[in-house]
Amino acid sequence: MKAENKEKIKSKTQKNSSINKQLKKELEKFYSAVEQTADAVFFTDINGIIQYVNPAFEQLTGFSKKEVLGKTPRIIKSGLQSAKHYKKLWTTILSGKSFRNVVVNRKKNGELFYADHTITPIKNTDGSITHFVGIWKDITKQKLSEMRKDQFISIAGHELKNPVTNIKLYNQLLQTHFLKKKDKKALYFLTNIDSQTDKLIKLINDLLDIEKIKVGKLSLTKELFRFDHLLNRIILDFQYANDNHEIIKKGESKLKVYADKDRIGQVLINLISNALKYSPFAEKIIVYVEEKDKNIIVGVQDFGIGIEESEKKKIFEPFYRSKSLDGKGFPGLGIGLHIAAEIVDLHNGKIWVQSKPEKGSTFYFSLPCKIK
Ligand code: ADP
Repeated sequence: MKAENKEKIKSKTQKNSSINKQLKKELEKFYSAVEQTADAVFFTDINGIIQYVNPAFEQLTGFSKKEVLGKTPRIIKSGLQSAKHYKKLWTTILSGKSFRNVVVNRKKNGELFYADHTITPIKNTDGSITHFVGIWKDITKQKLSEMRKDQFISIAGHELKNPVTNIKLYNQLLQTHFLKKKDKKALYFLTNIDSQTDKLIKLINDLLDIEKIKVGKLSLTKELFRFDHLLNRIILDFQYANDNHEIIKKGESKLKVYADKDRIGQVLINLISNALKYSPFAEKIIVYVEEKDKNIIVGVQDFGIGIEESEKKKIFEPFYRSKSLDGKGFPGLGIGLHIAAEIVDLHNGKIWVQSKPEKGSTFYFSLPCKIK
């Protein structure tokens, strides 16, 4: 080997060893920093072999340092994560990014635990990945209580559906009976019972829809229809039932959509009823419709309480209600928008909101069209 090359290799080796020493120092600093944290922390080398675990890791998993050092986190695997999960995890971390999700793992005693799991690659000064750091935040208690809540909602929803449907049926029979007798007072009471029962049925259906969304079973029954016809009918129904606001329609669409008419109707009803509910002192709401690049775009504008910037995404999450509603007596459970977003998504459309607090909001959604 030429002397010049030998020199080059020597200097490279020296440089690498100084980088490694520096890295070792940095890692040691890191280890001591996470020694006392409440979340379980582990470090692996580039091959996924565990180099370090903190006391919280031992406490959570039941495995001692000795038992896990030199092994892969696989010994804690529950086998409940899909191959897809691992593929996504490795592609993300090898591209240099952090990966975060919820995992279910198994302790040494066989018990399962849920963890909010983040794994982050650690890079050398030259940008190459040398280690991975994993953090598991134990969320078992929260997850189990969520599961119990879901189960309760599901059972309650199914158990309530039959009796409430029967109440509606008997109420209708009574209405026919008192109509024949021309008893106006009884008819007035029965109409009220009917509209309250409708509210209850909607609530039960919404809760059951949330359950379907969770398990990916919200299905669509599609048909071809003129979007405008559906929209006009819904606006007319709202206008008939509301004296406080004028509902103005702007624009029109001649497009036919291949979509689930009832579900799209559900989205429109949710947006319009929210617009009415959250603008109690306004006199009008405006419903826009236009065609854009083979999409129908609908906008429902109100001049009401509006939404803070920080909450614009959160309001599409299940059971989220804006903080500004506290103590103001607006009824609701915070599930309608979540269902609407899911329905729009199932149709490959998009839903979004533009809003300013105290000025009002416009909720938009797009719906791709098939045929004119
Ligand atoms: P609900 O109205 O029953 O609470 P939604 O899921 O329909 O449930 O809406 C979620 C939340 O989004 C509401 O609680 C409210 O805080 C906010 N929101 C929805 N529509 C509007 C609107 N038009 N104006 C202001 N806030 C709104």
